[in-house]
Amino acid sequence: MDAQQTVRRQISCVGIGLHSGNKVQLSLKPAPADFGIRFRRTDLGNLEVPATVKNLAGIQLATGLARNEVSVETVEHLLAALVSVGVDNVIVELNSPEVPIMDGSAAPFIYLINEAGVKRLTKPRKYLKIVRPIAISRGDKRIALYPSDHFKVTYSISYDHPLLRHQSRTIRITEDSFVEEIAPARTFTFLKDVEMLRQNGLALGGSLENAIVLGETGVLNNALRFEDEFVRHKILDAVGDLALVGYPVVGHLVAHRAGHALHTEFASKILEESHAWRLVDGVEAAALPATMPVKDVAPRLAN
Ligand SMILES: [Zn+2]
Repeated sequence: MDAQQTVRRQISCVGIGLHSGNKVQLSLKPAPADFGIRFRRTDLGNLEVPATVKNLAGIQLATGLARNEVSVETVEHLLAALVSVGVDNVIVELNSPEVPIMDGSAAPFIYLINEAGVKRLTKPRKYLKIVRPIAISRGDKRIALYPSDHFKVTYSISYDHPLLRHQSRTIRITEDSFVEEIAPARTFTFLKDVEMLRQNGLALGGSLENAIVLGETGVLNNALRFEDEFVRHKILDAVGDLALVGYPVVGHLVAHRAGHALHTEFASKILEESHAWRLVDGVEAAALPATMPVKDVAPRLAN
């Protein structure tokens, strides 16, 4: 059986919030099957915010969640790490509103989860298998999901900057490929934007220790971890934002120039378009044909 999983034991780390600059402690705690991923604010009487699209709030530079006036921010890198190594159920305790930024990538969270270990539970895992295309576009920004036998991501970005005019990558997301190829990719920002962010009380914890900073002609950091670290980080963000649908997705995600606002709007749309997917267990996910007959798909593409 392809079973749901949680962490084997409680584990903690300390870091700073990217935007607040405040020190924050994060703990991962085991949770039962069908619990999902829930954030718990220990500084607010243990009030919880489940990591689902229903609780989306305040999407600007990072992805935030809120419920009953309790909020958590910058959840996407942690969510990407959890779902990519198969942690379906976990309590994420925070003593501050922001998940710590660590080094700006998901690698420290992978390390943390590996230290705790992963434990199988007794209930089967459900997958959200895409059977018809779902797409949205906003100007030149686009995002779509197509039927596929695996979870794959194709991402392309283009900026008016000599170092990242155009980058594109396709990757099949497995635990191994995510850990090796995507998790270490750091968030990035432009030096010209940093001053504006600071004036707005954002990125107060930001530094070359937790973000790639692009100057006019190059990066201010010593070195990149990958030549195309930027587009890899966008894949990381998309995987984390897509986790808010609440099930691992089986389909091919294709995004062009998207960001948190479009990723999360899309995650909501997926759940609304219930004719375009089926909830299946692991065995069915492999057996169900990835593509529907053309006549079924054509009317959807026409509008
Ligand atoms: Zn990010």
